[in-house]
Amino acid sequence: MRIILFGPPGVGKGTQARLLSTTHGIPHISTGDMLRTAVAEGTELGRKAKSIMDAGQLVPDDVMIGIVRDVLASPRAANGFILDGFPRTIQQAHALTELLHAMKLDDTVVVNLQVDEEEIVRRLRSRLTCDRTGKVYTSGTEGLTPGGPCPDCGGTLVQREDDREETVRKRLGVYHQTTEPVIEYFRANGRVVTIDGTAPIESVNRAITSLLGD
Ligand code: AMP
Repeated sequence: MRIILFGPPGVGKGTQARLLSTTHGIPHISTGDMLRTAVAEGTELGRKAKSIMDAGQLVPDDVMIGIVRDVLASPRAANGFILDGFPRTIQQAHALTELLHAMKLDDTVVVNLQVDEEEIVRRLRSRLTCDRTGKVYTSGTEGLTPGGPCPDCGGTLVQREDDREETVRKRLGVYHQTTEPVIEYFRANGRVVTIDGTAPIESVNRAITSLLGD
């Protein structure tokens, strides 16, 4: 299985990618997670990316394309992958298309997840992320609060800096202006399936799996 999960921030790409990764035994490649790891480790990339990410803006294309080129060429991605958070610009989409073509992986499918905008703002405002595993929860459900323990592993639940409402709205603006046109690029160049991301997590997962025929 080789898929590109596409859609606005908060649509559920990470959640679906983690599920598919477990059920299909293929890696979840999240450019956002890779950048957050770089920030946490204080690498040069992390130092450059942090302020851009906190402001809800995009890290430069050449940096992102280099990261994805390396990871797709690594043995990790040899038997399939779920790409989450890339591409986010036409330039990235173009570079990825060329890369996949050179790797004879033109049949990679783009899964376009869609959710109503206000629902996205609601989801992200109340999203809590485990600082150890990146697993996400909803604040207020089952007594979960920021700073509290992750029910799964005991890590700490935190609100991502860029999940504050003001930044969420900025990220959505960037999505509409720069990222959304990418779907038209893919429609013209390959296979795109669109899925309603409003349904419960398991239903969305079933819809993706059955549309991909796996
Ligand atoms: P995400 O976890 O996918 O929402 O990504 C978090 C942040 O990382 C984004 O708001 C961007 O600042 C940065 N980022 C992740 N992927 C990309 C990408 N493909 N291009 C540019 N910036 C990215």
